[in-house]
Amino acid sequence: MAYQADSSKAEEFIKHEEILNTLRYAEGNKNNRALIEELIEKAALCKGLSHREAAVLLECEQTDLTERIFHLAKKIKQKFYGNRIVMFAPLYLSNYCVNGCVYCPYHAKNKTIARKKLTQEEIRREVIALQDMGHKRLALEAGEHPLQSPIEYILEAIRTIYSIRHKNGTIRRVNVNIAATTVENYRKLKEAGIGTYILFQETYHKQNYEALHPTGPKSNYAYHTEAMDRAMEAGIDDVGIGVLFGLNTYRYDFIGLLMHAEHLEARFGVGPHTISVPRICSADDIDAGDFPNAVSDDTFSKIVAVIRISVPYTGMIISTRESQASRARVLELGVSQISGGSRTSVGGYAEKELPQENSAQFDVSDTRTLDEIVSWLLDLGYIPSFCTACYREGRTGDRFMSLVKSGQIANCCGPNALMTLKEYLEDYASEDTRKKGLALIRKETDQIPNPKIREIAIRNLKEIAAGKRDFRF
Ligand code: SF4
Ligand code: SF4
Repeated sequence: MAYQADSSKAEEFIKHEEILNTLRYAEGNKNNRALIEELIEKAALCKGLSHREAAVLLECEQTDLTERIFHLAKKIKQKFYGNRIVMFAPLYLSNYCVNGCVYCPYHAKNKTIARKKLTQEEIRREVIALQDMGHKRLALEAGEHPLQSPIEYILEAIRTIYSIRHKNGTIRRVNVNIAATTVENYRKLKEAGIGTYILFQETYHKQNYEALHPTGPKSNYAYHTEAMDRAMEAGIDDVGIGVLFGLNTYRYDFIGLLMHAEHLEARFGVGPHTISVPRICSADDIDAGDFPNAVSDDTFSKIVAVIRISVPYTGMIISTRESQASRARVLELGVSQISGGSRTSVGGYAEKELPQENSAQFDVSDTRTLDEIVSWLLDLGYIPSFCTACYREGRTGDRFMSLVKSGQIANCCGPNALMTLKEYLEDYASEDTRKKGLALIRKETDQIPNPKIREIAIRNLKEIAAGKRDFRF
């Protein structure tokens, strides 16, 4: 079996030997200044890099060239995403799980964690709590359990979430992070109006994958790795991939991640919508110290920077696993979406858990409220955005990608960020955040380049102040 990016078989598009060859190639060229300079220049054209090229840059040991990589990552981030940061929150529906993932406290054998599954009424309460914080975009999370959380339960949860109108609150985009499933079930998710289907590979290293997933359906490497293919066959054209850095060597998984992106592009003509970059951390019966491949802050920054310049059109996501300091660093290097005010326990938004009832999937490192995060982003010069416009306007898959590649999407993202921030400031912000946000909106509105769009945005901002909601480009 040769390496074949457009194959439908996991072991051909994530070819182990190709990853090993790439690792050797990168190691052999880590001090090859001429090649590294050439690759930086190629990346500056914003057409992306192959996994081999990216691997060389990740290995680069020359301080001045590494600085150039960081500099370019910041430039590309600015070019495609400006100073906007899209906000979202995870919503945990159920932590019953039949799998045996050794790094996750929801694994089936864990007897110490409190098991919970939200009823539709409890989901309602959670959603109202999230709406009252100001969230518009959710990522649904659920353990894999055929009896506790079958697809019908997930679909009903999605319907419940979209139906709730509380004061000016609405959840406008529900992304879904559930276990690998069938084409038929992905079709049902598509029909339910989900935004992105998100599934982390955890690690692309088959042997380690099997050791880390000793039991349950998730132990099937090929079925898991080919999940995005099935999702796309079912018509879901926005998919989000990611690995859990620290489970395996980061170099291997970094290459696997880019090969997966190349595969989706080669087979379906659209790369992943987002890449998430979680790092292993402690929780309930899991100790991050047990994972010798844990990634340092410096390496993590480099991973983010090289992903940014290798797949400029793909959004990047980090969660509250990361500390405030780490988030600040990677936001400027490439991350375009962050969660805020997150609870990683089942039912944690409506009610605070007692310590003996811990149902959290991981310990949150950034424990600030959404308002504190919005205020912090404003201080750093970012525009916190609650935009959900694209999929609601039918801008998904290749339609979305062509707008991103031509740079035209910025005409939507900029004003949408300002209008959704304005809604947030009117409905949910503290007085201090409100003042800072309004000043930023005034400044940024003047800088909308297209006069027609600027005029409409100014009109809409006035309408929002007068009580109207949900404008979008
Ligand atoms: Fe279950 Fe997902 Fe945790 Fe694995 S990572 S134990 S599949 S919830
Ligand atoms: Fe995202 Fe589209 Fe909104 Fe831009 S306009 S922030 S790409 S949803």
